[in-house]
Amino acid sequence: MAANTDVGEDAAARRDLAVRAAVEQGLVGGADSAEPLTCLLDTAGIRSSAAALTGAFAAALAPGTPVLHAFAVKAAPLVPVLRLLADAGLGCEVASPGELALARAAGVPAGRTVLDSPAKTAAELREALALGIAVNADNPQELARLDALVAQAPTTAPIGLRINPQTGAGTIDALSTATATSKFGVALRDPGAREWLVRAYLDRPWLTRLHVHSGSQGVPLALIAEGVRELHALAEEINAAAGRRQVDTLDIGGGLPVNFASDEETPRFAAYVTALREAVPALFSGAYGLVTEFGRSLLAKHGLVLARVEYTKTSGSRPIALTHAGVQLATRTAYAPAAWPVRILPYDAKGAPKTGDPVAQDVAGPACFAGDLLATGRELPLLAPGDLIGVPDTGAYFFTAHYGYNSLPRPAVHGFTVDPGGQVRFSLARPAQSVEAIVAEAGGALGDALL
Ligand SMILES: *Cc1c(COP(=O)(O)O)cnc(C)c1O
Repeated sequence: MAANTDVGEDAAARRDLAVRAAVEQGLVGGADSAEPLTCLLDTAGIRSSAAALTGAFAAALAPGTPVLHAFAVKAAPLVPVLRLLADAGLGCEVASPGELALARAAGVPAGRTVLDSPAKTAAELREALALGIAVNADNPQELARLDALVAQAPTTAPIGLRINPQTGAGTIDALSTATATSKFGVALRDPGAREWLVRAYLDRPWLTRLHVHSGSQGVPLALIAEGVRELHALAEEINAAAGRRQVDTLDIGGGLPVNFASDEETPRFAAYVTALREAVPALFSGAYGLVTEFGRSLLAKHGLVLARVEYTKTSGSRPIALTHAGVQLATRTAYAPAAWPVRILPYDAKGAPKTGDPVAQDVAGPACFAGDLLATGRELPLLAPGDLIGVPDTGAYFFTAHYGYNSLPRPAVHGFTVDPGGQVRFSLARPAQSVEAIVAEAGGALGDALL
């Protein structure tokens, strides 16, 4: 097996080849006539992360244990990505009618799909039960809805409840879902909650799963593992009270953080499995089937934004590069720069890595507000008009979570592979949004509606 750094070095070498080829093949460029912005996905990298995930769990689980790795669709809601992951053996975790439609469009079967949103409508629940999609209920009122639906029409869909282990926050509050007052799940440590949960299962023989997701980026592995330990203990308690193995599957969520500081892929899925084995050894005994819901850790490292530097200037003697990559594809970075720093990789107009003495400069996006910056005072070779910037680690929750500020279009996304001879092949995974589409989505056909 390759050492950690080898993975990153291979990926970095593929990335530089892809940048050069993207310019040569006209996907993006420094010349005035070329496209100013595009996004790339490294297909081999995605496959290697999927294999690392399935391999890490397979190596630890008792042989024959049922396991479903459901990709959290919100991390990269693109049909070709979901199909690629399905081809690598993964299913889908969905949290809206749109995400469910994407999973179905990718051909992901109902039996490999999990529905998790905190505000599912009755219609969504009815559809999921009719299709046989696994449902994790969020709260007692949703459970009461499920009571009525299950009474009306028996279902084969596995049904569980999400708990909030209230184990605490990580470093990013907005992504910490296991706080004392989180909006997600049944709060396990609230007075009476445990007793209520056990009773809820005893009263409903069709409740067979338990679900936890303690948060995303910024939640340490030990804290995630602690939430899973709470989940397992509750399942044991319910099964003891039931006198049978009523809870047969534990859905342990996602949340493995990603390193945005370098090309090194850390922490690895294998490290997460080790942390889980230490905290909850019985999880791997085969007594429970497992569902996981990873998103960011499968895709983030494999996405790259490539944008042209349109102009450069100085303001208050600070050099500033005005580029086409900003808040529309790095929304969290623009609004919460301390929590979401991104690297900036400088390339020249031909797509070759740019070298030169480091100069502190701001890297700005195209949007009309002052916070539209990807980096402030960043030491880089002085950027010039026609250069390109690469923004790596953007394969999850960045360009696939477009923000329509200033009617900036969704950029194209191209997958790429590099053959052993160094030839780069691109395939379009999402077309750029056209100006016509922007007008149509903005009520273009309804121009007289308000007269
Ligand atoms: C967002 C989310 C995930 C995926 O989280 P990552 O940090 O991307 O792995 C999994 N499960 C649920 C319920 C989520 O809301």
